[in-house]
Amino acid sequence: MASVTLEDVTKRFADTTALSDVSLDVRDGEFFTLVGPSGCGKTTTLRTIAGFEDPSEGVVAFDGKDVSETPVERRDVGIVFQNYALFPHMTVAENVAYGLRFRDPPGGVSTEERVTDLLSLVDLEGFDDRDPDELSGGQQQRVALARALAPGPSLLLLDEPMSALDARLRENLRRQVKRIQRDLGITTIYVTHDQEEALSISDRLAVMSDGAVEQVGTPREVYRQPSTRFVAEFIGDNNVFSGTVTDREDGVLSVDVNGETVRLLGDDHATGETVAFCVRPERLTRDATQNRIGLDVETVEFLGETTRVHGTWNAFEMVVRLDDVPDGDSLELGFAPEDATLLR
Ligand code: ATP
Repeated sequence: MASVTLEDVTKRFADTTALSDVSLDVRDGEFFTLVGPSGCGKTTTLRTIAGFEDPSEGVVAFDGKDVSETPVERRDVGIVFQNYALFPHMTVAENVAYGLRFRDPPGGVSTEERVTDLLSLVDLEGFDDRDPDELSGGQQQRVALARALAPGPSLLLLDEPMSALDARLRENLRRQVKRIQRDLGITTIYVTHDQEEALSISDRLAVMSDGAVEQVGTPREVYRQPSTRFVAEFIGDNNVFSGTVTDREDGVLSVDVNGETVRLLGDDHATGETVAFCVRPERLTRDATQNRIGLDVETVEFLGETTRVHGTWNAFEMVVRLDDVPDGDSLELGFAPEDATLLR
């Protein structure tokens, strides 16, 4: 198994800086996700870890050892890309066995036994003789995963492996990938632009923006305590406000938001300072006694288990979640001070 460390990694391509000072610690056995919008540097980070790119500055280390001089094929990583990249003229079994071209199967088993074990691991027993074009997209990706795992790598790198699949298939496949990762205990680094996927599959995630890491944490931490405005807006639905601190007493800030005062928890902000804060949609409730907000309702989306309401309050656009469908064009809501998070 392996831990992976990036220390102040910068990567420049001609006049583009794809990564600036990226530092990460991926722990042994962890499912770690890089998530962020298109162009933020996720793939470049993954390719640098794999050894397809050299950092312009900084260090990549596996288990504390600098791997800068180690070529891709000796880094002991399995890689699955977005496009399945199975060989069309090879059967499923031959594709999986291709993963063993540089290395004997681990555990002293034969290639045939290894292929059978892996096909069973990815729930494709008996598919050995099929051609790739006789498989669904999800099945092809599972073959690609089996091929990557064939030599028993210490590290698994997955670059948007599900992005070509439809929503239901993605959900199934991500549960399978998670199960396989947990069974094998293999350190896994996963790239996706889909924040919901990142929350659902990861032990921890790094939210990236513009070549830099904004926040690293567990899904809960990143969702509940986003540290920056970018993270607050990128991960899940959110309501972001800004205002001016008018008073500070016993850890409670009074903040003027376009003429209305709300109270938040916070110590390290001075009177007169401009602050940004967020409140998750599900934290705005009709029975809250504090921080009352009169929402002008604009659209109501009934989604089955919940209803999402968009509207405005005090010139801020807002989104809230209710468990029933409101009538009328205004809603009285509120939130507790502890349900607001101050942002950088
Ligand atoms: P996506 O989700 O769209 O794949 P990403 O987050 O994976 O995006 P990267 O592919 O890592 O982003 O790209 C980061 C930045 O580096 C982008 O501005 C991209 O145009 C640039 N870049 C990546 N590879 C190269 C290259 N080989 N030459 C020049 N610029 C590159």
